[in-house]
Amino acid sequence: MSGEFERIARFFERGAERLRGSLANTAVLGIGDDCALLSPGSQTRGDALCAISTDMLVAGRHFWPDVNPASLGHKALAVNLSDLAAMGARPRAFTLALALSDNNDDAWLDAFCEGLFALAAEHACELIGGDTTRGPLCICITVIGDVDLQRCLRRDRARPGDHIWVSGELGAAAYALRHPGLSRSADERLLRPQPRLALGTALGRHSSCAVDLSDGLLGDLRHILERSQVGAQVHAERIPVHPALLGLPLPEQRALALQGGDDYELLFTAPPDASEALHALSVTLGLALTQIGVITKDRARDVVDASGQSLGLRFEGFDHFTPH
Ligand SMILES: [Mg+2]
Repeated sequence: MSGEFERIARFFERGAERLRGSLANTAVLGIGDDCALLSPGSQTRGDALCAISTDMLVAGRHFWPDVNPASLGHKALAVNLSDLAAMGARPRAFTLALALSDNNDDAWLDAFCEGLFALAAEHACELIGGDTTRGPLCICITVIGDVDLQRCLRRDRARPGDHIWVSGELGAAAYALRHPGLSRSADERLLRPQPRLALGTALGRHSSCAVDLSDGLLGDLRHILERSQVGAQVHAERIPVHPALLGLPLPEQRALALQGGDDYELLFTAPPDASEALHALSVTLGLALTQIGVITKDRARDVVDASGQSLGLRFEGFDHFTPH
């Protein structure tokens, strides 16, 4: 069976391409980035674009059915808002499609909505519609945001010589999945990720290329490298590792921080002369921003240790259609 990204390209990007010939071209950017970008029409002001993204969470696949429902409500919206952040977009509204099983009674829904709407209120993102049905528990959210054309962050905008940056500390969610209950802050990062919206909207002045980390740093960086047709050298010793991982052997720390998923930090590229402004932004936001490597013209991708030795790591992330 083909993999997740191969399937998207083969069945859906090709179909979308076929439609393009016959329809008015509203998509400025279609399938393949964190969000699609739509031009809202000629009546609206200048360069404002509409950013749209959908994420689906399935019980038993993305979360255990007995997970705390308030955390689940938070996370279902957070992973969608993270895609808006990765485009530099501000959230405006969302739709919610829910399949609910008999276990999801009113008390469950109460808690779910508590987590969902607390995060929605924090980011002024309004629920505008959706659907509910009976079935195995499944949550599908579509978020809508806006972004200026000149400020949007796209996966195909990395340039040779750009520095590669990442926000926050990595590996906590993957650690919590393997070692639940050992670190409260790691558990919190897995259950209640914080979408980096303030960073995303501020980044547009310094960067034009970003992705959010959902499937692991190396796999998500690979999306940027492929779309931008460039290579990368990543320095393993510069990777900001979450404190919960520090007691683990180095190879396991690296595996969790570089290949573990669910971090929902932003990975972005910026020209070297933006470094000072990015350090200042890091202080303003109270969020670590770390330069971890460089974009190269030749298409090779590598992770090296402090002595420049290749670690031979594969730039692959999580794929839902590859057997695990
Ligand atoms: Mg994404």
